[in-house]
Amino acid sequence: MDQIVIKGLEIFANHGVFKEEQEKGQNFIVNATLYFDTAKAGRTDELSDSVDYGKVCELIKDFMTQYRMNLLETIANRLARKILMAYPEIEAVTLEIEKPQAPIPMKFENVSVKIHRSWHTAFIAFGSNMGDRLSYINDAIANLKADMRCEVKKVSKFVESKPYGGVEQENFYNGVLELRTLLEPKELLEFLQAEERHAGRVRKEHWGPRTLDLDILYFDDMVIENDDLTIPHVDMQHRDFVLVPLSEIAPYKRHPLIGLTSKEMLKRLKDSYVTRK
Ligand code: ATP
Ligand code: CA
Ligand code: CA
Repeated sequence: MDQIVIKGLEIFANHGVFKEEQEKGQNFIVNATLYFDTAKAGRTDELSDSVDYGKVCELIKDFMTQYRMNLLETIANRLARKILMAYPEIEAVTLEIEKPQAPIPMKFENVSVKIHRSWHTAFIAFGSNMGDRLSYINDAIANLKADMRCEVKKVSKFVESKPYGGVEQENFYNGVLELRTLLEPKELLEFLQAEERHAGRVRKEHWGPRTLDLDILYFDDMVIENDDLTIPHVDMQHRDFVLVPLSEIAPYKRHPLIGLTSKEMLKRLKDSYVTRK
């Protein structure tokens, strides 16, 4: 992807673990690479179609001088997020913060922290079968839209379906949405669980009735397996209430492990019903 490179931006600021560093201040050098598509600006020659790097430099300076932090890691992480939120057209940023006068009692040239942060694409399945089902779902979507770290790109139609897993309960409304997000997988899971709690969800029996259920289907093409998070969602390929809405908004998106598109997985599921009958 195209890049805009800001190199050697010098900023006097008051970060550091030592009291003296925070009181006296020192020079920091910021290097930033902004990844975004310059094709449109290349055609129109209009600044409004590009990223104004002068403004980005000001944002960096304001951020660096407004706060006092202990660690370069903290500054880098927060600043990267701030840039990506302020300029959603920037897909990713590599940020290096140097501290050439760091208090190290040896001869050294430089120390720095360098990180890469980007927007991610996640697909989320939602469902509700208790109380005011549509409101719970619509409120959750509105809250995702309101969060600066999230951009809801697509929402499928809601499908009504019979409950899964054999527990006696009301019908479900289900659907899938596509999210562009700055949250990392674990943060996204926590965010979604907070939404479930906000909808008053109480975890009783597995697959039992719930006001709101939000599952992460995909997170980019990542494969994750740990105690509290499995991505892609382990059972999605067996659920028509997931594959039908997913095929509507992302028919050609390929499952990173199974290797089939949403439409192909849906077809395979339907064929398996026919064979079983
Ligand atoms: P299922 O996951 O089979 O649809 P469920 O949604 O009813 O079942 P929950 O009680 O909502 O299950 O969640 C149980 C746990 O699943 C959560 O505490 C969460 O840590 C874990 N989990 C693992 N992978 C995911 C994922 N991809 N999305 C959401 N939760 C997940
Ligand atoms: Ca679920
Ligand atoms: Ca769940």
